[in-house]
Formats: sequence, structure tokens, C-alpha cells
Amino acid sequence: MLLLYALIVRGAKIYLDESLMDFEPSPQEFRRAADQVVERIAAFLQEPERWRVLPAITPGTLRNALPSAPPATSEDFADILADFDRLIMPATTHWNHPGFMAYFATSGSASGILAESLIAMLNVNAMVWRTGPAATELEEVTLDWLRQMIGLPKNFDGVINDTASSSTLYALAAAREMHSDLRLREEGLAGRPEVPRMRIYCSEEAHSSVDKAAITLGFGLSGVRRIKADDHYRMDVSALRNAIAEDRANGIRPIAVVATVGTTSTTAVDPVPEIAQVCAHEKLWLHVDAAYGGSAAVLPEMRWILNGCEHAHSLVINPHKWLFVPMDCSVLYTTRPDLMRGAFSLVPDYLTTPEGSVARNLMDYGVSLGRRFRALKLWFVLRSFGTAGIAENIRRHITYATQFENWVRGSSTFEVLAPRDFSVVVFRHHPPGLEDEAALETLNTRILDAVNTSGEVFLSHTKAKGRYAIRVAIGNLRTTESHVARAWELVQKSAFSLVEV
Ligand code: PLP
Repeated sequence: MLLLYALIVRGAKIYLDESLMDFEPSPQEFRRAADQVVERIAAFLQEPERWRVLPAITPGTLRNALPSAPPATSEDFADILADFDRLIMPATTHWNHPGFMAYFATSGSASGILAESLIAMLNVNAMVWRTGPAATELEEVTLDWLRQMIGLPKNFDGVINDTASSSTLYALAAAREMHSDLRLREEGLAGRPEVPRMRIYCSEEAHSSVDKAAITLGFGLSGVRRIKADDHYRMDVSALRNAIAEDRANGIRPIAVVATVGTTSTTAVDPVPEIAQVCAHEKLWLHVDAAYGGSAAVLPEMRWILNGCEHAHSLVINPHKWLFVPMDCSVLYTTRPDLMRGAFSLVPDYLTTPEGSVARNLMDYGVSLGRRFRALKLWFVLRSFGTAGIAENIRRHITYATQFENWVRGSSTFEVLAPRDFSVVVFRHHPPGLEDEAALETLNTRILDAVNTSGEVFLSHTKAKGRYAIRVAIGNLRTTESHVARAWELVQKSAFSLVEV
């Protein structure tokens, strides 16, 4: 009987192995395929400029080049890889390119890239501690390291989310949870005339993720009150005080203030210490959006940017923006993890575990049940660079931006449109005598188009106090001084050729 059982089991194994072989490579084949992938990664990292940073394609190019129906049978890995080379690479905007200076430049560092493949190999879903003990505990440890690196107090407890937009949504959900008298978790908002209108405050320069959170949480767009910014694009705190007083007088319930450290358009730093005082006085949740800027606090000389953040209830920082961790990795710190759990914890029978509340269960901290093992790539990157290596590269980026700013300031036909603390320069071409804003916008749009058409660098634009501006955002690991100099050269050349025409 035992022999028969063993034969069946053995037979089943052979059957499984053979059927799998149609779909999964043998170890030897896997190594060969992996070598080819690694070769592509190494070649890209060695010479990313073989590729245009912004592809010269129009919408639909890739879609039209691909079969409209899925493959009926297994295809060779070599064929898939060949199509990756032929179709995907030239249709990609290369964020990992040293000429990428648009939006906020980011980096997939080598150690982060390698960690990503190990994350895929483990394929962990860290819903609860039991389903991802290493993922859960490494997240706790790496986020405590990062906390120390940026100088936040010990009572800041972190979790990793996909993006800052999710992190801000979760922070504001926790803020809403403070208002337990409204029983919003149990009863919701709809059909309850007894529930007052609620308000979130942020500066007019704050990221649109605040509005998206308000839409999602049922505050609605009118539930966000944007406070005017001063000449330096920072929230005007007296306007904040007045807005809160006015809302209270009108029966609106203030919930939270979102302050930004490094705004999206111009990288302004809101006066967090003063905003924190207002929040303490008004008993409001203070969320700090340091998605981009927070990383700079690793530098001792930039630590000031987080002044006042010790009073925040939550703070988001994106290691996938300026900490050399590949997309996606957003860290949400909070001093009130109890309220975060209060907002999101919901444990169906099938997810109860013998560890119970002794262990952290990441599913309790947001909407997603499933969670990737993102801490692994953060751990690889923090260890590969060390705090000193991270600081050195961020400092280098700030130095390049300072240099670029000096070039702009040194030109009689260009002007800087916003103060610069980080690695982003906001500027425009402004030939003497041309004062019409619409004409300046057209001119600068054309300059930007010409620069981006080069394929060497990719810059983006914004509006600074209503004025169209070009943004140079330096943040890719492989960007050197010569890339930045080339960007300035291309901007000047484009400007002068357009003005001459
Ligand atoms: N906050 C700020 C200040 C940002 O600049 C951005 C995006 O650039 C975000 C939030 C949203 O980031 P994410 O793409 O991670 O949602």
C-alpha cells in the first residue's frame, strides 16, 4: 500500500514536472534567460543615452504594433525578449535616463532593480504577519532607519504604500476617524443631515492628491479649502487661521491641514512650525506632504525643511522619488497608528491568525489587503548607499540645480520664477520688451517642445503665479554636470533660434 502511494505521489510529481516544462524553463534555461535580461539591464545602466529619453512616437504606436489577440500557445522567451527590444524600449519614456529632468526625476538604482527581481521571486503577499513575516518586520526596521535618517522623532511609525496619493488618502481617513462622534465608519456620510460639512485645508500649491482624497472620503471637492500662498509659494498662515474661524462660524467642521515640504510646481516649503501651532490650537490633524522634499532631510544642512514636522500626525515621503528606490515605494509615517487601524482594520474570519494583535498586520493600515514586499528594495538601497551615499547624491543634485539657477540668473533674457531650495529650477525665457503673458507662454511652450524633441533631455512645465514656466528637475542618479549643462545649452539654443525666426 505504502509502495503504491509512493508510486502515485512520484508519478504525480513526474507528471507535474513534465507539464510545467511547457511553461516554466528548466534551471539551465532560466539561467540563460536571466543572463540575457541582466545583460540588457547592465547595458542600459552603462549607456542609457543610447535611448531617447522621450520617445519620438505618437499615441497608438505600440498598440498598433502588437497583436490584438493573446497568444494561443506558449512563445519562446527569446522571441518575447526580442520584441521587448524592438517594440517596448523605443516606446518608453525613460525615467531612468540621465536626461530625464521632468516632473520629479527619479532613479531605479542597481540594487533596487536587483531587489525587484527577488521580490518577484518571493512573490510575498504581506497581508498579515503570518503571510509575510520578513516583509512585515523588514518594513518596520527599514522605516525606522529612514525615520532616523530624516530626523523624525521615535513615535513616528511607518508603513509602505504604493504612492503618496494613497498615503495622503489614508492619513486623511485617519484624521476623519478622530471625529468618532460622527460615527462615519459605521454610518457613512450619505443621507445624514446631522453630519456637518467637513473641511481639509492646504495651500493653493498643494498636490491634487489632497483633492482626490477628499473626493474619495466623501468630503467632496468643496471639502478642500485652498489657502493662498505668499510670494514664495508658501501657505499664508494668517489666511489659514481666518479660513478656519470663518468655517467654524458657518458650522463647517475643520478636520485637517495638509502642509507641503517641497510643493509640486515650485518646491516651496510651507511654514510647518506655525501651521503646527494652528493645528494644536484648533485640534486638527496635521498631515505633511514631503513626498518629494522629505528625502533632502537626510542632509544635515537641509534638516531644517522638516522643522515643525515633529508635531505632525502624519507625514508622507516617497523613496521612489528621490531616494533611488524603483517605483513604487511611498512611506506614510504616523504618530497615531491606532487611528489608522481604526479607519481600516477589518478582519474577516479567514484572516484571523493565532498571532492576533501581537504581530503587525499590514492589511490594517489601508485599503489594500495584499501588499508587495517593497521593504526589500528599500533595504537593499539603504544598505548599498548608506546614509552618506544617499546624502552625497542628493547634495550633488542640489549643487547641479544651484549651478543651473546661476546660469539662468546670469542671463539677461531668462528669469527664475521661484525660490529654489531643492533640485528643481523654475524659470522662463523672457526677452526684454515682451510683456504679454500669452505671448510669453507661447514662446516658452515652443522652447520646451524644441528641447524635448531633441530626445537628449526631457523637461516639463508648470504655472508659477499664473505665469507659464519651464521646470528643470534634477534627481536621476546618472545625471552628471554635463547633462545639466547640455540641458541649459539646448534651452538657450531653442530660445535663440525661435526668437531669431
Ligand atoms: N505630493 C507631491 C508634493 C507630489 O509632487 C506628488 C507627485 O509628484 C504627489 C504628492 C503624488 O505622488 P504619487 O505619484 O506618489 O501619488
